[in-house]
Amino acid sequence: MQAKDSSLEWAIIGGGIHGTYLANMLLTHGYASHSDIRIIDPGTRLLQNWRKVTSSVDMQFLRSPGVHHIGADPLSLKDFAQKIAAQEKLFMSPNDRPSLKLFNAHSDDVILKNRLAELHWQGFALNIETGSGLSRIHTGSETLKARNVILATGQTDSPFWPEWAQKARIEGANIQHVLDPLFSKTTIPDSGEIVVVGGGISAVQTALSLSGGGRNIKLLSPHPMRYNNYDADPGWMGPKYLSGYSRIRSSRKRRSVIRAARNTGTITHELRHELAQSQKRKECTLFVDQTESCSVMADNLMLLRLLSGEKTGANCIVLATGYKKERPGGFLIDQLIDRYSLQISACGYPETGSDLQWQDGLFVTGALAELEVGPASRNIIGARMAANRILKSLPKQAAA
Ligand SMILES: Cc1cc2nc3c(=O)[nH]c(=O)nc-3n(C[C@H](O)[C@H](O)[C@H](O)COP(=O)(O)OP(=O)(O)OC[C@H]3O[C@@H](n4cnc5c(N)ncnc54)[C@H](O)[C@@H]3O)c2cc1C
Repeated sequence: MQAKDSSLEWAIIGGGIHGTYLANMLLTHGYASHSDIRIIDPGTRLLQNWRKVTSSVDMQFLRSPGVHHIGADPLSLKDFAQKIAAQEKLFMSPNDRPSLKLFNAHSDDVILKNRLAELHWQGFALNIETGSGLSRIHTGSETLKARNVILATGQTDSPFWPEWAQKARIEGANIQHVLDPLFSKTTIPDSGEIVVVGGGISAVQTALSLSGGGRNIKLLSPHPMRYNNYDADPGWMGPKYLSGYSRIRSSRKRRSVIRAARNTGTITHELRHELAQSQKRKECTLFVDQTESCSVMADNLMLLRLLSGEKTGANCIVLATGYKKERPGGFLIDQLIDRYSLQISACGYPETGSDLQWQDGLFVTGALAELEVGPASRNIIGARMAANRILKSLPKQAAA
């Protein structure tokens, strides 16, 4: 419980990859002490949503290299791996991509060693009032006061549901989205026709994790499979592309650069191999087509009409259609924009300073910082890029 009259130095909204990493950096670099920071998140533990969505798609190896994680020292995950006796494969080429198990175990170790769980305040920030150097964060049960706020809310609120799917859900179809925090594999029948909708890495991982047993998996992709080990060229993590990007003044232009730079709807080389194997075993069939409509014929029986004129039946539909393109963050962000006339671009995303400050003492990271940080902003490395900018902007004497 925060003492009534006391104010925090930092309140971080969101205890995911970005929020946890930034808290770790503020502590590690002496800009705050444990009593100065709180991470507000509805989860029962830090990184809960990350653990949930990555296990929902049954991700085995990360897409990012072993130096991308929530620890302060880029080499700490590798050092950690050397200390654990493991039977299974810990890294996948290229770039020593860690297994999810290793990444999460290392995250637990970082959280423990830096006592980050002590900072976790379980709650949901409903709205924020700012003014005269202090922000009040209302969580319904409590109000926290802080001199600085970091919005690290990720994209949990915005899995993308195509219109036909929204209609089918209302009609009672057995349909769910794999990135939904409430997604549950237990409602997927053990046998029958399971349609996984999507053409990217989450769709293929989900299709492979559901295949086998009595199920017949149909992977319904809007495009032929595309392959790339990166979801954005590594040049976007450093000066190679960012120096030119930082000279672009128009955020409309920045948005189009970001769109062109992200390799959405691509899969990594090992998933390509695994998918081919699964197709050979006739456990999974790839359809390149799009859904026009979906009718509920009976309980757990839907009929999808496809753009090609084909029809296909499904006992269960799993959407792996990624997140909405619109600005995430929901009501909390909308009310901040309205109440304080915060700058947003035509795409709806925040226009901030290079220090990611949206207004005095209000910072953004992750998806919300994309226009400033660039195509890698949402990723794990995006947290490091954001921390570098935010910490660099803080007055040195602020160190706790
Ligand atoms: C399946 C999947 C696999 C991925 N794999 C990789 C990978 O291999 N490498 C990589 O670099 N990136 C990867 N990413 C991208 C990215 O790193 C992750 O999405 C990461 O979780 C983003 O961190 P975040 O902190 O922005 O969001 P999250 O980790 O989702 O955390 C946001 C947190 O904010 C909380 N929150 C939201 N609103 C509020 C509020 N109002 N009040 C309080 N709390 C709130 C949410 O509950 C959530 O816990 C992956 C993404 C997905 C979906």
